Amino acid sequence: MSGPPQVTRISQGALTLRGTPAVPGIAAAPAVRPAPRLRPDLRSEPVAESDRASEREAFLAATAAVADRLRERATHASGAAAEVLSANAAMAADRGWLGVAEISIAAGSPAAAAAIAATDQFAEVFTKLGGLMAERVTDLRDVCDRVVAELAGAPEPGIPTPQRPSILLADDLAPADTAGLDPNLIVGLATSRGGPTSHTAIIARQLGIPCVVAIAGLDDVPAGVQVLIDGSAGSVAVGPDPETAARAVAEYRRRESRTAAWTGPGATSDGHPVEILVNVQDAAGARAARSHPAEGIGLFRTELCFLDHESEPSVAEQADIYRDVFDVYAGSKVVIRTLDAGSDKPLRFADHPDEANPALGVRGIRIAARDSGILDRQLDAIASAAADRIPTPWVMAPMISTAAEAKSFAAAVRARGLVPGVMIEVPAAALLAEAILEHVDFLSIGTNDLAQYTMAADRMSAELAALTDPWQPAVLALVARTATAGTSAGKPVGVCGEAAADPLLACVLAGFGIRSLSAAGAAVAAVGAALSEVTLDDCRRAAAAVLATSDPERARAAARAALDPVGR
Ligand code: PEP
Ligand code: MG
Repeated sequence: MSGPPQVTRISQGALTLRGTPAVPGIAAAPAVRPAPRLRPDLRSEPVAESDRASEREAFLAATAAVADRLRERATHASGAAAEVLSANAAMAADRGWLGVAEISIAAGSPAAAAAIAATDQFAEVFTKLGGLMAERVTDLRDVCDRVVAELAGAPEPGIPTPQRPSILLADDLAPADTAGLDPNLIVGLATSRGGPTSHTAIIARQLGIPCVVAIAGLDDVPAGVQVLIDGSAGSVAVGPDPETAARAVAEYRRRESRTAAWTGPGATSDGHPVEILVNVQDAAGARAARSHPAEGIGLFRTELCFLDHESEPSVAEQADIYRDVFDVYAGSKVVIRTLDAGSDKPLRFADHPDEANPALGVRGIRIAARDSGILDRQLDAIASAAADRIPTPWVMAPMISTAAEAKSFAAAVRARGLVPGVMIEVPAAALLAEAILEHVDFLSIGTNDLAQYTMAADRMSAELAALTDPWQPAVLALVARTATAGTSAGKPVGVCGEAAADPLLACVLAGFGIRSLSAAGAAVAAVGAALSEVTLDDCRRAAAAVLATSDPERARAAARAALDPVGR
C-alpha cells in the first residue's frame, strides 16, 4: 500500500513550489494561464462637463450588463458556484460601490477609471477587515474587470478553454471564472494568492478539482510547462520526471477508487480487526458522520457543545444533548469524553484561574480537583443518557497525568454503571500506562496533545508544526509503549488524535497493537481502505522500522518501504 502523497517522493528533482492545500487530489498536465485583464489608461483627460451624464449612463449600462450576465450564469450553475455567481451579480449592482464611482464620474473621471478607483477604495476596506472579507477582494476586482471590458467593448476577461486537460495557474482566479471551469479540461488549479476558504477554493472543492492556493514563486512558472499538482501536500512540481508524475497520478486514482469502495468494518487484509470510529462534537456532526463508513464514535468532545454557554447546563439539559448523540449511533460503540475545558477551549462556567500558561494549567480532569461537582454532574448526565443502552457507552477523562487521577475517575464512572477509560495525552501517563491500566478498562491516545507535551511545542503554532508532527519518533515511541501496555494488560488502546486520520500512520499504529482509530468522518474511509490492503505482519514490520528512525521524514520513508516494497 501507499500512504498520503509525499512531495519529496513524487517530484524527484523537479522544482517544487509550496502553498496551502485547498482541495486534495493529484494531477499532471501542462500549465495554462488566464488572459491578461484589460488595464485602461488612468491618466486620460477629465471628461468634459457636457459629456458626464452620458459617461454615467454608459457606466450604469455596463454594470447592469455585467450583473445580468453573472445572474444568467448563476441560473446554469448549482451549489456554491451558483451562490458565488449570484453574490457577484449583486456586487455589480451594489448601491454603495456604484455610488462612489458615480461621484467620481460627476467630478470628471472617465467611467473605467471611476470603477477602478471605487474598487480600490472598497478593496482597501475589505483587506483591513481581514479574514473572509479580505478574500472577497478578488470577487470585487473581478466584477470591476468585467465592467472595464464592457465599457471598452472588449470580450469578457477570463480563462482560456484549452484543447487538452491542463492545470490552470493564476494570481487568484475570479470566482466567476472558477465557477465556469470544466473539470475535464482543467484538472488542477494553482494560485499565488487566496486562502483555503476563498471562493476559488470553495468552487474547486465542489467541482472536485485538485487545488493549491497561496503558492510562493508561482508567478514565474510560464504557460506550457508540465506541472504536477498535489492538493493534499499543497505542492506544485514544475517539470517533474514524466514517469514519476504518471506513477503519482495512477497511484492517486487507485487510492481514490479503493477509498470509495471501502465500506468497513475495519480490518487488515488477513482479518485482524481495527475498529474505525469517528470524532464528533454534537448530534448534527454525528448525523453528518453517518454518511461515512465508521463503526461508532471514538471521541465525543463534550466541551465543544458548551463553548458559548454562560452558565453550566443542568444535568437534564446535558443528558438531552448526550442522548441525541448516542441515538445517532444507537447499537454501536460510543466513547464520550468528559469536559476538556481550559487552554484553547475555555468554558465560562468552569471557573478557570488566571494562568500564565493555560496549556500547562488547570485543564481537563484537573478542573475536577478544584470543583468535583462539575464532573459529578456531567457523569450523572451521561449515566442518564446511557440508561439501558447496549452496548454501554464508554466514558473517558482528558489530560490524565497520574495513576491516582485515573483511579478516582474510574471509581466515579463505575459507580454509575459505565465503562471507564482515560486519554493518554501527557507523556507521564504514557510512561505509567501499566499503572493506569490497573484502574481503567481502556485507553485512548490523544496524539495532538501528546505531541504538544512531548515536544514542548504549542500545537496551535504554525511555526512549530514540524515539531508537533505525529510522526515525530519520540511521540510514536510513547504511543508504542502505551499500546504494548494495553496488549499486556489485555485492555484495548485506541488513538483518537489527528494521527488516526493518516492512512499510512494508521497501519503503523495497528502494528503497535492499537485496536481502534477514531478520526474526522471525511478521513475514515481512506484509513479503513489503507488497512484493508496490508497484513498485520506488514503493519508490525512497519511499526518496528519506524521505531528505529530518528526523524519524521525517515519514519514516513521507513513505513512506506515496509508497507510498499515494490513502490506501487
Ligand atoms: C488529542 O489531544 O489528540 C485529542 C484527541 O484531544 P483534543 O484534540 O480535543 O485536545
Ligand atoms: Mg487533547
